[in-house]
Amino acid sequence: MKYDTIIIGGGLSGLMAGVKLARSGSKVAIISSGQSALHFHSGSFGLLGHADGKELLHPLEAIGTLPAGHPYSKIGAESIPALADDAKQIFADAGLTFIGDSSKNHFRLTPLGLCEPSWLTMDDYATCENPSETGWRKATIINFKGFLDFLPGFLADGLKKHNLPCDYAEITLPAIERLRRNSSEMRAAAIAKVLKGPVLEMLASEINRAAGNSDVVFMPAVVGIDSEQPVRELRSMVIPKLLCVPVLPMSVCGMRSQIRLRRYFEQLGGTYFLGDNVTRGYMEGPALKEIETANLSGMSLQADNFILATGSFFSQGLVAEPDRIYEPVLGADVEAPSDRSLWCGKSIFDNQPYMQFGVTTDRDFHVMFNGVPAGNVYAVGAILGGSNPIREGSGGGVAILSALQVARNIIAAGRADNSEAQA
Ligand SMILES: Cc1cc2nc3c(=O)[nH]c(=O)nc-3n(C[C@H](O)[C@H](O)[C@H](O)COP(=O)(O)OP(=O)(O)OC[C@H]3O[C@@H](n4cnc5c(N)ncnc54)[C@H](O)[C@@H]3O)c2cc1C
Repeated sequence: MKYDTIIIGGGLSGLMAGVKLARSGSKVAIISSGQSALHFHSGSFGLLGHADGKELLHPLEAIGTLPAGHPYSKIGAESIPALADDAKQIFADAGLTFIGDSSKNHFRLTPLGLCEPSWLTMDDYATCENPSETGWRKATIINFKGFLDFLPGFLADGLKKHNLPCDYAEITLPAIERLRRNSSEMRAAAIAKVLKGPVLEMLASEINRAAGNSDVVFMPAVVGIDSEQPVRELRSMVIPKLLCVPVLPMSVCGMRSQIRLRRYFEQLGGTYFLGDNVTRGYMEGPALKEIETANLSGMSLQADNFILATGSFFSQGLVAEPDRIYEPVLGADVEAPSDRSLWCGKSIFDNQPYMQFGVTTDRDFHVMFNGVPAGNVYAVGAILGGSNPIREGSGGGVAILSALQVARNIIAAGRADNSEAQA
C-alpha cells in the first residue's frame, strides 16, 4: 500500500497532522497502537503556562526567549499565532468547541480547586480570566453517589482560597444506581454512556433542586463522550451556570477529542489503522522507504513522507532501560545523556530532566539518524526533545503546533514539486 504520508501514532499530534494533510487532499494513513495521552486529558491544552518558575499571562512574549532547541523556537515565534488559529478552526470543524486565544492565557480550574494558566479549554469546563476575581458568588459542587474518581472536598478547599463559598450535594439517578451494582462500572466513561436523553432531564432537575441560591454549579466531567451535544442539552436545562471539573482517568473530554478528530480525519478520506503497532522501518540511503506493522506483516507500507508521532515514555515512543534511552520503532537519534544519574531530579518535586528528552531533529523537524537528517521522516508532539511539558505547561501546544507546522511544510513541498513538474 502506498500513501502520500504515513503517520506513526494516532494521539493528538498524529491526528492534528493527519487532519491538516487530509484537508489538503493528501492520501494519508495513521497507524496507532491505541491509548494516548488524550485519554488522560484535563480538558485544557497549555501553550506556555510557566517560564522561569513564574505564571505567564502572555505566552507569545516568552516564546521568543526560549532556547534554540525548543520546538517553539524551531517553528519560529512569529508563526505561532497563525498555527494556533488554524488549530482552533480544525477543532471547531471536528465538532470541538474550545475557548481561549494564543495572545493571552486564561485559567482552568483543576480538581484541587487551583487555577492553572491555559491556552485552549473545552467550553463546558470551568475557567476564569482572573483567579482573584472569578466572578462567581456562591457555588454548589455536585457529585454522583458512589463516584470515587472526583474529590469534592479538595475542590471545595481550593475554591475557599479564592473566597468562593461552596455547598455540596450528592445526587443519584436510577440509571446511575444500576451502574453502582458493580463497583468497577462506576467510572467516568461508563457514567457518560448513560447520561443522555431523558436521563439528562432527570439530572437537570436534580441539579436545579440541589443548587439552591448558588450562581454556579461544578460537576464532574462525565458528560458527552463522543459529542458536545449532551453537555449543551444539560446546560440549557440547568438554571445556574453549569461547569465541569476534570476527574480521574479515563477522561471523557479527552476521549471526545480523540473520537471527533479521528472521525473528522476519516471523513476527509484518511485511513486510521487502530490497534496496530509499527515494528520497524526500512531505510534506503537517507530516506525511509517502508515500514512494517505487527498486524500487516508481509505487507509493504510505503509513503513519500513519514511522521513519527509516537509520544514520549508514557506511550512508549521512547523507552528507558537501565543503561540507555532509545526510540524503538526507527532507531532515531535521541537527545539524552548516557549517564543515568542525570536523568532524574533527586526529589519528585525537583525538575525532572527526562521530561525534556526526545528524538533529535533539525530545525524543520526532520528526524536524525546517526547525526544525519532523514529527508522524508519528521517527528512531532511529545516525542520531540527540548521542551518540558510539566514545568512549562506546554504539552498540548507543542503537540498541536509541531504537527501543524510539519504538515504545512509537507504540503508546501508537495506544491513546489508539482509546479516544478508542470514547468
Ligand atoms: C498522562 C498525560 C496527561 C496529559 N495531559 C495533558 C493535558 O491535559 N493538557 C496538555 O496540554 N498536555 C497534556 N499532556 C501532555 C501531552 O503529552 C500532550 O498534550 C499530547 O497529548 C501528546 O500527544 P502525542 O500525540 O504527541 O503523544 P501521545 O498522546 O502519547 O500519543 C502517541 C500515540 O502513539 C501510539 N504509538 C506509540 N508507539 C507506536 C507504534 N510503534 N506504532 C503505532 N502507534 C504507536 C500510542 O499508542 C499513542 O496512541 C499529558 C501527557 C500525559 C502523559
